[in-house]
Amino acid sequence: MSDKKEKTFKFVIVGGGIAGVTCVEQLSSQIPSSEVALITAGPHIKAVTNYKQVSRTLEEFDVEEKPSSVLEEKYPNLTFIQSGVKALNTQSHFVETTDGRVFGYEKLCICSGGRPKLLTQDNPYVLGIRDTDSAQEFQKRLCKAKRIVVVGNGGIALELVYEVEGCEVIWAVKDKAIGNTFFDAGAAQFLIPSLEADKPEKTAPCKRPRYTTEEPAPGASQTFTADRNQRGHGSAPTEPGSALGPDWHEGIVLRGAEQVSRRVSVEYQCEVEKIFTSEELLSSPQQTLRPKTEGSWPVYVQLTNGKTFGCDFVVSATGVVPNTEPFLHGNNFALADDGGLQVNDQMMTSVPDVYAAGDVCTACWDHSPLWQQMRLWTQARQMGWYAGRCMAAHVLSEQIELDFCFELFSHITRFFNYKVVLLGKFNGQGLGPDHELLVRCTKGQEYVKVVLSDGRMVGAVLIGETDLEETFENLILNRMDLTPYGEDLLNPDIDIEDYFD
Ligand code: FAD
Repeated sequence: MSDKKEKTFKFVIVGGGIAGVTCVEQLSSQIPSSEVALITAGPHIKAVTNYKQVSRTLEEFDVEEKPSSVLEEKYPNLTFIQSGVKALNTQSHFVETTDGRVFGYEKLCICSGGRPKLLTQDNPYVLGIRDTDSAQEFQKRLCKAKRIVVVGNGGIALELVYEVEGCEVIWAVKDKAIGNTFFDAGAAQFLIPSLEADKPEKTAPCKRPRYTTEEPAPGASQTFTADRNQRGHGSAPTEPGSALGPDWHEGIVLRGAEQVSRRVSVEYQCEVEKIFTSEELLSSPQQTLRPKTEGSWPVYVQLTNGKTFGCDFVVSATGVVPNTEPFLHGNNFALADDGGLQVNDQMMTSVPDVYAAGDVCTACWDHSPLWQQMRLWTQARQMGWYAGRCMAAHVLSEQIELDFCFELFSHITRFFNYKVVLLGKFNGQGLGPDHELLVRCTKGQEYVKVVLSDGRMVGAVLIGETDLEETFENLILNRMDLTPYGEDLLNPDIDIEDYFD
């Protein structure tokens, strides 16, 4: 690796997703005199807009994909470098980009996100959904499809099966219930009828105003197409873009080739055993494959429950793996079991002067008993922001303490058109059998679950317009003994807010 540095910056941030951009913004506003470089593979950056602190730890915001010039105009100290990083030399403090340039740093923050954990590599019938390009590819193939198989049980799979219309969906989940990453079986039961009902007409405007570097013409429909055109201007299509976020399907039509509204069949407790092409199926001596339905399909999926389904293509939504690869060679990073760069409570990796934030890192400090890392949009923002603060504090020789946002896990999202709020150990994570659950459920309206440990509230799942999030957040943070209140905690006839005034 050549070390002919084009320039050395005080701070170099790699990755223009939420974590990287928030880190850049924080550094640039905290130390406006310092030279900051943002190196990212694509021409766009992700910007947080309409940020709203809903309560002490809950936050809501929109995300816009913008051209990098927006950041450069706002922060004169910022240099934007559009290229992938292909190598890192932590001894000599420089990075090398795919277009052969070398940049030095005093402090580096790696925010390169993750890439889909694909069921199999290089199979043209298996798609992962991660960024704008892959979502566009999905849409293109869906409009000709009659049946798809979706594999995975996290947020992406949940949204996908709900949103797809005009195409039969076979949904293979490895758990006993859908949405296991977020819910227990009770919440899953509450949500299942939504999969069987017709989708309500959308009245809310699309929250993501732009996926493109160009403003669409007035009256034009909002699509991903300009993004692909933009990619023609320099970055290779294989370079990973930023991860999509909560509303990734807004503004794109997820419609297949059939007239049906929605047809989803869930195959529980199974994984993919094998994927065959139609030729392989025909030449297979095994009679056990026996596809579930007649007809000829381009690809067949054999599940571990013994069933085989033909389909037009398979969506692999089985999570992400941290994008660490370009940074590892020749360096001695401590990696977590999930493959992420280990970071401590100062967002520092195990290598001096190298920080990491967002999906690429694994939080390895002693977590608060009410927090866990999940590779989510909110945590990418919080980590990027906090990493920026830590980097600034360290060059100014100041002390900094772990931010309050890491005290309590909190997340607001929407699934199946319901508002969903998750707080603390919402699924009893790590609590063992020694916890109690209180549940209140009104079919089609709300599902409220509280997790109690030692009489104290340690987590909650709120689905629907419950309006309980702030009160519950306070009860969790105050660690108040709730034993005297018993089941009245969820009594709908008692106004819980007044109760605790
Ligand atoms: P990313 O957004 O992935 O950004 C990484 C950046 O690094 C990109 O700009 C990329 O181009 C750049 N990069 C990568 N490698 C290099 C390199 N070698 N050199 C230079 N640049 C590089 N979260 C939620 O909270 N709620 C949801 O409902 C939700 N839904 C999702 C739906 C989908 C389809 C997906 C894919 C994700 C979803 N997420 C959701 C997760 C959320 O989008 C991510 O957790 C978050 O965006 C991670 O941000 P990040 O900045 O760490 O990484």
